[in-house]
Formats: sequence, C-alpha cells, structure tokens
Amino acid sequence: MNELLVHPEIERVLLRQNEIEDRIDRVSADIAEAYRPHSFTVVPVLTGSFVFASDLVRRIPLPLELSFVWARSYRDGRSPGELELGAFPTAAEIEGRSVLLVDDILDTGRTLSSLREELLERGAADVKTCVFLDKPSRRQVEIEPDFRCFEIEDVFVVGYGLDFGGRYRNLPVVAALRPQGDAAGG
Ligand code: 5GP
Ligand code: MG
Repeated sequence: MNELLVHPEIERVLLRQNEIEDRIDRVSADIAEAYRPHSFTVVPVLTGSFVFASDLVRRIPLPLELSFVWARSYRDGRSPGELELGAFPTAAEIEGRSVLLVDDILDTGRTLSSLREELLERGAADVKTCVFLDKPSRRQVEIEPDFRCFEIEDVFVVGYGLDFGGRYRNLPVVAALRPQGDAAGG
C-alpha cells in the first residue's frame, strides 16, 4: 500500500497501474498509426502531464521531437483560476511541424484550446491533442481530444502527475479526492 493513499483526503482509487499501462499501450499505437511515417513534435503541458507524456512517448516507435509548454489554471485547491500560459517552444521548434499537444486532463477545455490557438499562431502546421483523462461534463469551451485514455465523471482527481496543492503528483495511480467538507473515515 502506498502511504500517500492512506491520507484522509483520498477517497478511493479510480485507475490502477495495470489499467493505465494497458490503455496507454493502445493509445500510443493509435498515435503511431495516425502519424506514421511522418515526424512530429510532442508538446506536453507542464507540470501535470510529465508522467503521462513520459509513459506515452516511450511507447511511440517513431522519430518524434519533444518540447514543452507550461500552463496553470488551478492556483490552489480545486477550482479553476485565471489561466496562465508560458514557456512556449521557440519558433524553430514548431514552425511548419505537426504538433501533438499532450495534457493530463481536459476539464473546461480552456487550457488546451488556448494552447492550440497559440501554437497555430506561432506557425505549427497542425495541432492534434492527446489527453490522459477527459471530464466531458465540465466542458465550457468546445473541444474534443483527438486521443484520450480515459473518460471520467466530475470528481477531482490526483496522482499520475495530477496534484492537489502541489502534492500527490508522484502517486502511481489515479485517486479521487474526498468531496470538500466531507469528514474523513468510514
Ligand atoms: P481546463 O483548462 O480544461 O479547465 O483545465 C485543465 C487543467 O486543469 C488540467 O491541466 C489540470 O491541471 C487542471 N485540472 C482539471 N481537473 C483536474 C482534476 O480533477 N484534478 C487535478 N489535479 N487537476 C485538474
Ligand atoms: Mg495542467
């Protein structure tokens, strides 16, 4: 048992390691099939997608390149704040390239749709999106991921890169946080 999971904030495990791995095997094969034989650039959104992106790219046997963007919408806690974007790839890294934007979770859709626009404005030839988790019930901006591992209900999740106040990113599973105000135990 991972000691992080014993914390009273954690309600239950939603996705276990073997389920996650099996699903990423499948999605990475779909991605390879979609791009082969072309080269492309994978752009993970930091910080949350670092675990997913690392598992994903190691399963894609094509000559891809990597460069990172940084975005933050959850200041502290569970509700989206103002969206901050930064640390974009240089023009040389994306101009004329096919880009695969990779994020941990697609929630309201604001982050991915803003980043997609921004990368196209900076000269990417085309931008596809790949998300580890998708919460379609929370969408505010019209966007559908090109590749997605799991669709989940509207619960706040942590682990596998996703944090709560900076913690739990190193949890190797995806867990749901206990709803706010709920007493722990039972
Ligand atoms: P969007 O812009 O689609 O609303 O938000 C996407 C970002 O919000 C994700 O990259 C992630 O950082 C954060 N986010 C959305 N839902 C969750 C969640 O359930 N747990 C955590 N830890 N972060 C979330
Ligand atoms: Mg994020």
